[in-house]
Amino acid sequence: MNTENPRLAIVIPCYNEEQALPITANVLLELLDRMSADGLVSDDSYLLCVNDGSRDATWNTIEKLHATDPRLKGISLAHNRGHQNALLAGLMTSIDRCDIAVSIDADLQDDPEAIIGMVKKYRDEKAEIVFGVRSSRESDTWFKRATAHGFYSFQNSMGLETIYDHADYRLMSNRALKLLSEYGEQNLFLRGIIPLIGLKTAIVTYARNPRVAGESKYPLSKMLSFSIDGITSFSARPMRWIFMTGLSFLVIDIIVALYVLGSYCFTSTVVPGWTSLMLSVWFLGSLILIAIGIVGEYIGKIFIEVKNRPRYAIEKSLL
Ligand code: UDP
Ligand code: MG
Repeated sequence: MNTENPRLAIVIPCYNEEQALPITANVLLELLDRMSADGLVSDDSYLLCVNDGSRDATWNTIEKLHATDPRLKGISLAHNRGHQNALLAGLMTSIDRCDIAVSIDADLQDDPEAIIGMVKKYRDEKAEIVFGVRSSRESDTWFKRATAHGFYSFQNSMGLETIYDHADYRLMSNRALKLLSEYGEQNLFLRGIIPLIGLKTAIVTYARNPRVAGESKYPLSKMLSFSIDGITSFSARPMRWIFMTGLSFLVIDIIVALYVLGSYCFTSTVVPGWTSLMLSVWFLGSLILIAIGIVGEYIGKIFIEVKNRPRYAIEKSLL
């Protein structure tokens, strides 16, 4: 561990961020200047922008910024692979080129000043993974806040250990990065994987700001599919739930059977039964569909994993 004068890489996934990037680059380069002047990080610390197959002029912007300050480096993925894969591409590219890496979004919603606190935890407390945790989400809309909190609680109830209000803003030591590189899964959910790495961890809290420019690339549909990915990649509990539901239905079924047989033997009225039949057909039908859907979700995961495709392809780089 080089805690004396560590080389810091700040990894920034960028998807259609032509508006935010120049502002972000300015803020972060100024932060690097300050940190190296204070002797916190080495002079050759740098920013690494990962262009995640943007459809706007993000890569051009990166090239221009690189020409004015070579401490801003970039790689460009061959196509849009999503935030998690873009982040991984950046972290893996920085493995041989840094002592510590911090990942941060391009919109500066996560307060960059917290990086100073993270580096201090690394230097003074020898923490190898430092999680950035939001102390407040006032700048998010109530809807975003409520759905995000709903997902955290749901995920935890499903047996996925994530850190509450921690997104992908964190510091990792070179050793932690090397351990991360050994996880070969396709269905990436870094927030779930990183607590599994072990090593000494610490937490830094910060207030979350509104986006500096542009709009969110995470609509509800993406958040929902991200959350489902998280659960099905890490826990088999949904399958256990199906089994338990089936078991309770069996118990109810026995009671109903006793009642039906009792009525048949001891009363002479014929029950038309249309309503109850329709209800149970629909209810069981939907239950079976849900069950098949959940099983399908896992089979889909196996399908993707066995293909073992590369998770990203780097098309261009400015390093
Ligand atoms: N991002 C990415 N690929 C995508 C979607 C998003 O690299 O397919 C990046 C985006 O440029 C930003 C970060 O991921 O730096 C987080 O996205 P955003 O701020 O839009 O999400 P939110 O903060 O609204 O959840
Ligand atoms: Mg954002």
